[in-house]
Amino acid sequence: MGDFSKQDQSAPYTNAAQAAAAAFVAREHGLLIAGLQGSAADGARFPVIDPATGEEVASCAAGKAVDVDRAVAAALRAFADPAWSGMLPEARAALLHAIADALEDHAEELAAIQSSDLGTTPALSRALVAGGIEAFRYYAGWPTKIAGETLPANGASLTWTMREPLGVIGAIIPWNGPAQAGAWKIAPALACGNTVVFKPASEAPLVSIRMLELMIEAGLPEGAVNLVTGAGGEAGQALIEHPEVAKITFTGSTEVGKSLMATAAATLKKVTLELGGKSPTILFADADLDHAVPAATMGFCAGAGQGCVAGSRILVEDSIHDEVVERVAAAAAKMKVGSAGEAGVEIPPIVSERQLKRIVGFIEKGRAEGARLVTGGGVRSGPGYFVEPTVFADVSPTMTIAREEIFGPVVVIMRFADEAEAIRLANDTDYGLSASVWTRDVSRMHRMISAVQAGTVWGNTLFEIDTKAPFGGYKQSGLGRELGPDSIEAFTQVKTAMIRFG
Ligand code: NAP
Ligand code: MG
Repeated sequence: MGDFSKQDQSAPYTNAAQAAAAAFVAREHGLLIAGLQGSAADGARFPVIDPATGEEVASCAAGKAVDVDRAVAAALRAFADPAWSGMLPEARAALLHAIADALEDHAEELAAIQSSDLGTTPALSRALVAGGIEAFRYYAGWPTKIAGETLPANGASLTWTMREPLGVIGAIIPWNGPAQAGAWKIAPALACGNTVVFKPASEAPLVSIRMLELMIEAGLPEGAVNLVTGAGGEAGQALIEHPEVAKITFTGSTEVGKSLMATAAATLKKVTLELGGKSPTILFADADLDHAVPAATMGFCAGAGQGCVAGSRILVEDSIHDEVVERVAAAAAKMKVGSAGEAGVEIPPIVSERQLKRIVGFIEKGRAEGARLVTGGGVRSGPGYFVEPTVFADVSPTMTIAREEIFGPVVVIMRFADEAEAIRLANDTDYGLSASVWTRDVSRMHRMISAVQAGTVWGNTLFEIDTKAPFGGYKQSGLGRELGPDSIEAFTQVKTAMIRFG
């Protein structure tokens, strides 16, 4: 998603973008099936809440299994239609570029829409939209390059492979970065010739609806991408159970990921899972603390810590431990908590009251289990869901706050004596999504990158996710990879062909 920490967090949205976003948000939001807007079969709706005010800003159609059936049928028809299956690679590439152009033309509006149901600061919201556009640009380069192999001949014969699309893809995303998470799935799925049924999170569905509308306006054939909003346990579950869905690509919690995999086994669906994390930021005594401390602080404060790659554990070498605790706490205490509209805000609201209560529960548990609260721990009163950036020190690896994903602006700081202990602590987790190592010793950096069990290890930086490079989890942080060439593998299957002519 690029380094949004370098952007001006306070730059407001343009008036035009704000007006366009407000007009969109106020509309009656339906499902998008075969290019058409419509209600759920039973007419049910659910509210969308602005987390900065706690007020309802919109409502969406609450799709159920019967609506998922219609969406899958539309996606199957589109998959079989020569207008899609027979589209030449160059035309598919041009279409993905046209989608990227359309999203770019509306980037500011999309960012403003995302802020209204997710509460993200303009800078983070813009970065997430930019990440989504980048995915369409990158995967637009792929249709002309997806190829198979010719294999050594077995006598008078020719054996070769080809990469074919899977069919209908069910894509499910969480609420915390929808503009980017959705594009990471839809762009490569389309580049490979699949069709999609997309289910955004109920807590932040609006930006996805607008993005899909723009994709359809940009010329995507009817039914190539369909959207069903609705509860995870109903619309999401129906998608996972559907026998005609070839694959589920899911981003969300480890808990739902596990049950999804069990359900998908019944129809032997392919699955790609991007799940939770408890990522360490590891500071050695020779680190450049003037860079490392602000980065480690952003690591758990950006987006109010509601990111899968949040650096929620800071591991510090003994000799700099006290200084780092003091400096991280001071930097965190200075961060401005507020809504997307307020100038200079660095810590946006928590997405929902439910999540807020969950975070407060972890903070209480941290205190009860004997960790030292260095700063924060409070909740801002009044409307909206705001938590102060919170730093715990003297944390032992067995405490709940050291083990579980909190998904809020809460960090635990732990100390280590040497490199071996740093590695032990870093890997003492069920998760393995990312890690960030800070040292000026190049040999140690290489040793650490090899030793840390995580899908992405950053050296003297963090949060830099590049569309061109694979991203995903070790251990219980996921299954498979997204982005880069890996998504092309993830959305195709290999057919072996052999002709004997002797
Ligand atoms: P979640 O509860 O797992 O929900 C994710 C999505 O799955 C939502 O669209 C949700 O729908 C749906 N869902 C819920 N239960 C389902 C079921 N039984 N069957 C099918 N779909 C179901 O996660 P969340 O609370 O939205 O998001 C936070 C979690 O996502 C964190 O753990 C975070 O680490 C993880 N995450 C991981 C990554 C990554 O790339 N690794 C990125 C972002 C977030 P509803 O919204 O309707 O419940
Ligand atoms: Mg949820």
